Amino acid sequence: MSQNKKESTEFAQVVAIDGPSGSGKSTIARDLAAALHVLYIDTGAMYRALGFFADQQKIELVEGEKLTNFLNSVKMDYGFSQTCLIRINGVDLTVKIREHNVSKLASIISQLPSVRKYLLDFQRALALNKVCVMEGRDIGTVVFPNSFCKFFITASVDIRAQRRLKQLKEGGDHSISLEQIKDDVRKRDETDMNRVVSPLKKSEDATLLDTTELGLNDIIKILSNEVKFRAAHLGFALGPNI
Ligand code: C5P
Repeated sequence: MSQNKKESTEFAQVVAIDGPSGSGKSTIARDLAAALHVLYIDTGAMYRALGFFADQQKIELVEGEKLTNFLNSVKMDYGFSQTCLIRINGVDLTVKIREHNVSKLASIISQLPSVRKYLLDFQRALALNKVCVMEGRDIGTVVFPNSFCKFFITASVDIRAQRRLKQLKEGGDHSISLEQIKDDVRKRDETDMNRVVSPLKKSEDATLLDTTELGLNDIIKILSNEVKFRAAHLGFALGPNI
């Protein structure tokens, strides 16, 4: 067995991208996956979908039998098509989960250990034997600690709130002020970083990238060069894998 082959078995073929909300990591992860021609996996969308669906079913967001039964009744599909990113029990939730109130539901439901366990299994199964870009809060630390390439993306609270406001306005939501969003961003950071299970934190071996002053094209260049370099070293084949 060659040195490359031996090394490659020790690593998951997942590019792990973590960081706080609004850091630009979703856009970066999506564009990076496109540049590398590999599957893009947005784990925030999964927490959002579960939060939204549980709320619709009037499931209290606390551990217990009702939540267990709820999770047992859920069939999640990810990446069904370019436009249909996420479905639960056959219902397409791709657009719905981007509404502002769903962020809060996702943040609450993501603190529950049984929900995290459910999605941990789902995410690992989804990435099995694929080169992919997976984005979230705990990908490099918990879901794929053996990822071959990890990035932690961050940016100032001001710029993150401005980006989020722009996103909401583009989606037709003009009801929220910049100050409100800044407040929400700070609160979500606080919750994500201090929760007991899988808190948001930079893995020691992740490359830190502050996007406050950087343009998207430059970021994608930096990241894709790094991924290609590491993939070549380990003998991972990038390319159409979508
Ligand atoms: O990334 P996004 O803002 O869509 O994520 C929504 C929420 O889901 C986050 O605020 C966070 O609480 C939760 N989340 C998580 N772990 C992940 C991805 C998202 O806890 N891997």
